[in-house]
Amino acid sequence: MVRIEDASGFSGQADRVLNPRDEAEVVEFLRQANAAGTPVTIGGAWTGLTGGSVPDGGWVLDLRGMNSLSIEAGRAVTGPGTLLRDVQSAVARADQIYGPDPTENTSSIGGNIANNSSGSRSFRYGDTRANVLGLRVALMDGRVLDVQRGDRIDFDVPSISLPRTTKHSAGYRLSPGMDWMDLFVGSEGTLGVLTRAELKLLPAPKDYFAGVIFFDRDALALDAVEAWRGVERLNMLEYLDANSLRVMEIDAAAALLIEQEIATGAEVDEWLERLDQAGALLETSWIATSERDRERFRQFRHELPERVNATMRQRGLVKLSSDFAVPFENNREMMAFYRDLLEREFPGQYTIWGHIGDAHVHVNLLPRDNAEWERARDLMPVFAREAVRLGGVVGAEHGLGKRKAHFLELQYTPAQIEAMKAVKRRLDPNWLLGRGNLFGWRDGLS
Ligand SMILES: Cc1cc2nc3c(=O)[nH]c(=O)nc-3n(C[C@H](O)[C@H](O)[C@H](O)COP(=O)(O)OP(=O)(O)OC[C@H]3O[C@@H](n4cnc5c(N)ncnc54)[C@H](O)[C@@H]3O)c2cc1C
Repeated sequence: MVRIEDASGFSGQADRVLNPRDEAEVVEFLRQANAAGTPVTIGGAWTGLTGGSVPDGGWVLDLRGMNSLSIEAGRAVTGPGTLLRDVQSAVARADQIYGPDPTENTSSIGGNIANNSSGSRSFRYGDTRANVLGLRVALMDGRVLDVQRGDRIDFDVPSISLPRTTKHSAGYRLSPGMDWMDLFVGSEGTLGVLTRAELKLLPAPKDYFAGVIFFDRDALALDAVEAWRGVERLNMLEYLDANSLRVMEIDAAAALLIEQEIATGAEVDEWLERLDQAGALLETSWIATSERDRERFRQFRHELPERVNATMRQRGLVKLSSDFAVPFENNREMMAFYRDLLEREFPGQYTIWGHIGDAHVHVNLLPRDNAEWERARDLMPVFAREAVRLGGVVGAEHGLGKRKAHFLELQYTPAQIEAMKAVKRRLDPNWLLGRGNLFGWRDGLS
């Protein structure tokens, strides 16, 4: 048995780990697994936070060796195991960008697509779904589909209405006449193995205004989010609360990370005026004057989840974080709900940060022992129910995997979940692929 763990610290055992080198080997492994009734779990880079790539026995397909990459004007073609950071750096050398910017760029493109991941720049460029042009997918019966945007699925599905959020990564997206791409993106390794992806690239912006803007009152930062959200060509609008800043050894009530593509110097002056009007701490805020500064801000933002994850690992505890989004008009209500409950239950032992421009922040709880961990875990469904009540979604970018599969029924009716399962049965009749993801363990073939 081989022990496998994802970045959340959730672990499981595999009977065998297979390392296909190409699509033909993937197809052969799937055929063998299907014939033998062996469950198969797909792994990209194991940076996932919901246990989606963690097995419970059976085989693991480790796709890291399938890491090809070619760049043309307007598109990149990658293998499933190609790392996001390799795409980003190759694309930058070609003076282009790949829009979605998940913070963890050691993740794989296959994992990004399977989870419909997004990042700080998704505020402007959209989630992974919006930036994938084509896919090749190996199915359990040995077929390989080569699909482009607009290629319709060949069976009927009902329409499941989506929450009014800008991000969504919780369950299959179903609507009559939909295309294959929308079905596979966000399917969390349960319908097929993505073996090749064609990604949309855009010309790189020439100039940016970027900064980490500090505030001495949290409410001022939330006001600024509302005021700045409509700024044209704004790529990023991210939030860090006082506890997050404390983790980063900074003393302020809140910070916003901003980045705008600018066309003229006058736009810099507009920002200085905006910051002043918002009551930001101008003296202490960081403004980028070079590409190096922007990279420093990116690393600062990325180091925060890494520090929180390391703290939980040191305490021997599995990460406990939320991934809910709500319609923007309910952002403040959701933030107040988080804050009130957290201050009551875990004062000082939590952080709130994330993609506030999309009304999508992550609450991380920092319990000190198992008893506190269990109490903290029990807050998550409370938050999930409130997000749904406010028209939001129980998974915005991390997927539900195994750890959050129980949230699916908070979002959807039994009939809607049954419609998703019918799709799963059609493509994986023996229910072998990504078993436990999305639908949990208890469902299986039922
Ligand atoms: C510090 C940190 C910061 C993070 N920040 C972000 C963020 O900003 N935004 C965000 O969205 N996520 C973030 N994540 C979560 C994680 O990086 C993403 O979910 C990422 O897309 C997972 O990619 P992976 O290659 O590691 O996938 P894995 O963890 O290996 O797998 C994830 C899921 O994808 C499936 N899968 C993988 N490859 C394939 C394939 N080829 N075919 C079919 N299914 C496949 C797996 O079965 C599993 O269900 C962060 C994680 C960490 C540790």
